[in-house]
Amino acid sequence: MSVFNKLIVFVLPLVPKFIVYLFAKRYIAGPKLEDALESIKYFNSQNIMATVDILGEEIKQKEDALQVVQQYKEVLAAIEKHKLDSNVSIKPTHLGLKIDKEFCYNNILSIVEEAQKYRNFVRIDMEDHTCTSDTLELYSRIRKELPNVGIVVQSYLRRTISDVDKLAEQKANLRLCKGIYVEPRKVVYRDREIINDNFKYCLEKLLSKGCYVGIATHDEKLIWHALSVIDKLKIDGEKYEFQMLLGVTEELRDILVKDGHRLRVYVPFGEHWHAYSLRRLKENPRVASYIIKHIFFKN
Ligand SMILES: Cc1cc2nc3c(=O)[nH]c(=O)nc-3n(C[C@H](O)[C@H](O)[C@H](O)COP(=O)(O)OP(=O)(O)OC[C@H]3O[C@@H](n4cnc5c(N)ncnc54)[C@H](O)[C@@H]3O)c2cc1C
Repeated sequence: MSVFNKLIVFVLPLVPKFIVYLFAKRYIAGPKLEDALESIKYFNSQNIMATVDILGEEIKQKEDALQVVQQYKEVLAAIEKHKLDSNVSIKPTHLGLKIDKEFCYNNILSIVEEAQKYRNFVRIDMEDHTCTSDTLELYSRIRKELPNVGIVVQSYLRRTISDVDKLAEQKANLRLCKGIYVEPRKVVYRDREIINDNFKYCLEKLLSKGCYVGIATHDEKLIWHALSVIDKLKIDGEKYEFQMLLGVTEELRDILVKDGHRLRVYVPFGEHWHAYSLRRLKENPRVASYIIKHIFFKN
């Protein structure tokens, strides 16, 4: 990362929220459930599936986590009511993982049970490395009870190569992504080539062992590699999907859909858009640099 980009990453949290919003709004559906529903309706009309995320993480009070459970149930009911093609993505720390693991287990189970009533599906997002073991454990426990739950693995994590073996044995439904958190070197690969090679290695292993994989990347080289593996292994179109974030590489997204691949867009919404947006913007300092210029070089 260049010195200028490093500076941007440092300065971003100091930028007034309303300015961040101006640039972040392409990455979030909006503050309300209705905003997310509008987004999903649009995507469905384009033959694109969705997964809804209620923005927020690292909840400190149990009452707040219980509210999030309730909100997810409302999201699931709205998806059903409007006959939308969308599932939900949840974050364990949003549901109390850092307060009490058992409490979090019950919260996730309750959302998965609600989804099961509608024959819908819940994806458990993967957060930073302090959550990995607990998240995998919660996933395995819930998967033993109900089938409509999936997990995420991150190719930047050194442990993923062995986690993938265990998950493949369980025929897990996975999302494979690179990983988004800033992590210490002892737990993650820093070299982008290794992260990509690990992504390719894990993808081939998961597909060849019959797992359903959500291939979550906007990196065209990895997408090409995925297509080549799908072709080589003759993987049925119902056994995988591509996944992309709202507001990112729309052209590539549309190319894949036009070519007949299943594709799902991650649609985040909610009042707690700030932390999420900062992460997205830090990932792409080119976008963030517009904010800095807007602040310091206003006409
Ligand atoms: C559906 C989905 C769910 C995810 N869930 C998780 C999760 O649970 N846990 C987790 O740690 N990470 C998650 N991620 C994030 C993921 O780990 C990566 O950080 C992110 O997708 C960027 O990596 P990339 O594979 O697209 O490759 P990159 O090499 O980072 O990006 C490839 C290209 O895509 C474009 N691009 C990528 N990101 C942006 C952006 N923010 N703004 C504009 N352009 C961009 C750029 O043109 C870039 O050159 C998820 C990603 C997706 C798509």
